[in-house]
Amino acid sequence: MRVPFVNFRIQYEYLRKDLESRLSDVFEKMQFVRGPEVALFQNEFAKLLGAGACVTTGNGTDALLLSLKALTVSTGDEVITPAFSWISSSETVTACNAVPVFADVNPETFTIDPDQIIQKISPRTKGIIAVHLYGQAARVRDIQALCKQHNLFLIEDCAQSHLTADGDQYAGTFGNAGCFSFYPTKNLGAYGDAGCVVTSDRTLAEKIRRLANHGALLKDDHELEGLNSRMDTIQAAVLLAKLPHLPTWTRSRQRLARLYSELLAPIDKVIPPVVRPNTQHTFHLYVIRAERRNELQAYLYSRGVETIIHYPSALPNLPAYGYLHHKPNDFPVSSMLAKQVLSLPLYPEMTEDQVTYVCEIIASFYKK
Ligand SMILES: *Cc1c(COP(=O)(O)O)cnc(C)c1O
Repeated sequence: MRVPFVNFRIQYEYLRKDLESRLSDVFEKMQFVRGPEVALFQNEFAKLLGAGACVTTGNGTDALLLSLKALTVSTGDEVITPAFSWISSSETVTACNAVPVFADVNPETFTIDPDQIIQKISPRTKGIIAVHLYGQAARVRDIQALCKQHNLFLIEDCAQSHLTADGDQYAGTFGNAGCFSFYPTKNLGAYGDAGCVVTSDRTLAEKIRRLANHGALLKDDHELEGLNSRMDTIQAAVLLAKLPHLPTWTRSRQRLARLYSELLAPIDKVIPPVVRPNTQHTFHLYVIRAERRNELQAYLYSRGVETIIHYPSALPNLPAYGYLHHKPNDFPVSSMLAKQVLSLPLYPEMTEDQVTYVCEIIASFYKK
């Protein structure tokens, strides 16, 4: 059996007719940028999450960058951000001439640890970026309280957490801004780069909308300088076709994740992911912690199972952050996780037989 890490084709075949008709509409109207599909998607996505507004952007990284800029992050400011994440959550801070201040994560949930945040708050701290990593809700209610207490902004990086929820509230609606990516592999994926910011702060939404379009809302109305970061109409049309299926696809991921965890439970060399109580984990990635991780990965690969490591290095240990002079021991949990984590194949259309096969291979590896 071959188990690819993801499979876009099944979803494409399933949506083909709808996609073809929506795309040919876009081609006929020829409004390739700022077409009606973009506004429609913004409304639909904001409505789905229960957010006041949605502003689409060129990608998820720009959603973070534009939010930081709109919240006036600049030279000398510090922003607290997880030591274990994709680099976007810290490189965008640097892009504002500010300093990313890393905080370690919780080893069970992989998300930023509020107790570690407290230790990193300084008079220069301007805000916090919480990442709902792998689809797991970060402790966003506690972080929200910290932000209130210390007068900090909260940005949620929701690139991996479409429809993730804490209690009855969706990720992305707890902070000043929730930043989403629609990169093709994400739980809601476009056919190219795309992203958005959701916020219930009307003034902030308008500022981000301006910043994403050269500082202008209407043509030539440049109140400030911005950049060019818009979701194009083709991507909006693809996302509109996919959006109604997102809840079903999410439930499918959750069902397959439960099966994985059930089948992996007897293997004591593997720690399956936990789900924080009273939250919805949307399993963008199903990530285990494994003994002899690299050997296990090679063994799975030799038996047709594709896995990926998200991420092989804690951010502060990357050459890109050498200038901050951190040591691996400064972030013991993140540095440990970088050696243990392994993402197993997971996509909504994956079969239970495939999940079972992956788990059998893992069990046979540790019996060797
Ligand atoms: C994918 C991702 C991003 C960036 O999104 P792009 O659309 O690729 O720019 C940001 N943060 C996290 C956690 C991601 O996984």
